Amino acid sequence: MVFEPVIGLEVHVQLNTVTKIFCSCATRFGSPSNTQTCPVCLGLPGVLPVLNEEVLRKGVSAGLALNATIANYSKFDRKNYFYPDLPKAYQISQYDKPICTNGSIEITVEGKTRQIGITRLHLEEDAGKLIHDERNRERVSMVDLNRAGVPLVEIVSEPDLRSGDEAYEYLQKIKTVMKYIDASDVNMEEGSLRCDVNISVRQKGAQEFGQKVEIKNLNSFKAVRASINYEIERQIASIESGERIRQETRLWDDGKNVTYSMREKEFAHDYRYFPEPDLPPIVLTDEYIQGIRASLPELPDDRKRRFVTQYGLPEYDARVLTSEKGLADYFESAIGAGSDPKRASNWIMSEVLAVTDADHIHECAVDPARLAGLLRLIEEGTISGKIAKTVFQEMLTTGRDAAAIVEEKGLMQISDRGAIEAVIDSVIAANQKSVEDYKGGKEKALKFLIGQIMKETRGAANPAMVQDLLLQKLK
Ligand SMILES: [Zn+2]
Repeated sequence: MVFEPVIGLEVHVQLNTVTKIFCSCATRFGSPSNTQTCPVCLGLPGVLPVLNEEVLRKGVSAGLALNATIANYSKFDRKNYFYPDLPKAYQISQYDKPICTNGSIEITVEGKTRQIGITRLHLEEDAGKLIHDERNRERVSMVDLNRAGVPLVEIVSEPDLRSGDEAYEYLQKIKTVMKYIDASDVNMEEGSLRCDVNISVRQKGAQEFGQKVEIKNLNSFKAVRASINYEIERQIASIESGERIRQETRLWDDGKNVTYSMREKEFAHDYRYFPEPDLPPIVLTDEYIQGIRASLPELPDDRKRRFVTQYGLPEYDARVLTSEKGLADYFESAIGAGSDPKRASNWIMSEVLAVTDADHIHECAVDPARLAGLLRLIEEGTISGKIAKTVFQEMLTTGRDAAAIVEEKGLMQISDRGAIEAVIDSVIAANQKSVEDYKGGKEKALKFLIGQIMKETRGAANPAMVQDLLLQKLK
């Protein structure tokens, strides 16, 4: 039997507003426990929530950036459940009238591009955090409510994903888009992006879905991919040995690389959703929605397509360069400073990204103007590509311009025919054996001679001229 995995993701993204969703407490990460709380987010009686307008604006931006339809009418609901990190014993979320529906994003895996549907995106508040520890040899549990009331958007995908790699790319794309529109810091370590996986397998070609399993406790994109790959194998093995897949929640063990059962899944009606009586419905005019649409920056897919048409870049280059807004900005600044697009692309993808992360590229000592200055020296034939790499390293440590370094260290390429011929003559005289070998048909000997000439000139000779002149002399 051939099996097909069916995967959907539920992603929680923390919006990067300064204050919480229903009160004016700060959302800063890493503050001392319970210092960013008030009667509203502590769930004390007699208080009323007030929606933070910035949460609404960022939520609508996120929906538009994910190609979703924004509802003119949506509302908040109470999701009731008991847990020690939830002081009100309900979470304010959205149930049957979410703010955004019917979105999609484009992912590319191994050169194949697919559209992944997004069922819905809704606004909700985060819960607090439990800390389990040991004090005086006794196990204790503590609660930190700094996170209670932090704004989240939950993004639910259609069951369109088919592999761990696709899920990984989907998350990367969400992260990229959220950063482009400045809706979230999407930092998994700080919990500003969290992901649960729904996964089942079915016989290829079947219409109905197999029994669905949920995976939680995923703390990195890599863990999402690995847990999916593990779960696909586990479910196929179970079915093939005649077992029934149970509907359950499983946790991912990062150390052992396995999923294990946590509990049988509760059903949606367990939450006894009902409309939140303390908040009015959200009514948005078309003008409001259009205003936010008009304020969005160029999004990654549009920018990628423009890089292909405007700069003639290969699809691959365009995708890498637009994967972070800062990286795409860096590239376009280098072009603005006069660089050839393909040369700049090659240099950024190989040399620049080797020494800096894409999301920290704005901190690189070699800024776009300096990179353009270096590339200009290659284009003018002042230095070779090889010497340019040495100059680049020097620029990184000193923060100086390429031209000044080349001038000071005398790294200018030697393109003077007479000077190169003189070096070639001396190298030929000193390596008669290699000359004989080459004439006897050993191609390797030619490489050796070129190497000697480049060494004599400390890499500064124009390589094309060296090759031409040497071949003439060996004829
Ligand atoms: Zn508060």
